Amino acid sequence: MIAAAMPAPSRPAALQAVKGMNDLLPPESARWEWFEAKVRALMQRYGYANIRTPIVEPTALFVRGLGEVTDIVEKEMYSFEDSMNGDKLTLRPEATAGIVRAAIEHNALYNGPLRVWSHVALFRHERPQKGRYRQFHQIDVEALGHAGPDVDAEQILMCRALLRDLGLAEGRDVRLEINCLGQADERLAHRAALIAHFERHAAVLDEDARRRLHTNPLRILDTKNPALQAMVEAAPRLIDFLGAASLAHFDGVRAVLDAAGLPYRVNPRLVRGLDYYNLTVFEWITDHLGSQGTVCGGGRYDTLVEQLGGKPAPAVGWGMGIERMMLLLDATKIAAEGPAPDVYAVVPGPDALAAAMNTCEALRAAGLSVQMHAAGAAGWGSVKSQFKRADASGARHALIFGADELARGEVAVKPLRDAGAAQRNLPLAAVADWAASLRNA
Ligand code: ATP
Ligand code: MG
Repeated sequence: MIAAAMPAPSRPAALQAVKGMNDLLPPESARWEWFEAKVRALMQRYGYANIRTPIVEPTALFVRGLGEVTDIVEKEMYSFEDSMNGDKLTLRPEATAGIVRAAIEHNALYNGPLRVWSHVALFRHERPQKGRYRQFHQIDVEALGHAGPDVDAEQILMCRALLRDLGLAEGRDVRLEINCLGQADERLAHRAALIAHFERHAAVLDEDARRRLHTNPLRILDTKNPALQAMVEAAPRLIDFLGAASLAHFDGVRAVLDAAGLPYRVNPRLVRGLDYYNLTVFEWITDHLGSQGTVCGGGRYDTLVEQLGGKPAPAVGWGMGIERMMLLLDATKIAAEGPAPDVYAVVPGPDALAAAMNTCEALRAAGLSVQMHAAGAAGWGSVKSQFKRADASGARHALIFGADELARGEVAVKPLRDAGAAQRNLPLAAVADWAASLRNA
């Protein structure tokens, strides 16, 4: 009586995810898993081992590693002080610096070069839009300790192999652009010529470009402002400042790509957003995603290991944005093969539970994927409603644990994907054999 008179407890307000950070739910998560399985198989084929480093790193790692006047360090990092001890920390905005730090810290190059890959969550305080988020994910690949153009080319071919595995066609869905950034002294000479050019055209520069003119003029070439395009097109080209060694390295990369029959465009304007790149840089670009068209980018960073306190070692790597890959798969209508269960177990009520549970365990032990119906807040639900769920699950077969069948030591098997096939009964003792026949079918 008293309870009825009390006001209903008010529900607390529901909370929302942080802006620019996304949840990943079924069925979309199945496509991510499908993609991740392809990636894992690829890394195995190319001899790249998995590496995992912390999401949080000392802020100094990125300031030192990426360069102080990069977009990321200037305005995109999630940095904070540890409230316990005042340490300056940052949610990693990119994967390479942390991996290099770990390699140095654990002396991982002691026995020779290292080829590794990682699946990483990254954080950048950007304006969220389609294909651009504040938490996003990458497949990241790094080869430390190899100097030659062969590894640059290997990594580009690796990307091609992955794109093919996913059903994407190079040329049609994604295209490759490459460039050579040379070495520091060559970039310095080019930089002086570049500043002189920009100064001659000071009137057309926008605020961003003016700010970068003397700090990072190379980045002006990467501007997305259409008003600057003509002036940028006419700017001195880095390639004209490259010496023989840099050109030979670039030729080495191109020779492998040519021999592999992989078309590419040399884009002399291609620069990457981070300061640490030298020699080869490349991007895989799609026209399906508007201005967020770069799905994968990478290049050589021969000075980073030393810059972060390690014994000098050359290195090359790439990062592929997983969200953008998923958008590209959407745009090209490529569907993942879904991981539908083999069997959905229809359980009319609690009396059938023990037999159903044991049978499902036996089927799983025999290698089948089994989804067992379980009671919801409102009870078990009718057999009819359970069949609807069985259908929606994509399962090939429903097993029905009816009381009559169980009394005879049997279970009913109903094929769900094969219109012609009839329902039949199966002795419980024979389910493992049935599972084996299904696996071998
Ligand atoms: P962009 O020019 O599009 O900002 P970027 O040069 O900053 O890209 P990288 O730091 O090289 O990108 O990261 C490699 C890949 O990661 C990009 O090609 C893209 O696919 C993906 N990526 C980068 N930033 C984001 C983001 N904010 N949201 C989703 N994916 C991203
Ligand atoms: Mg960026």
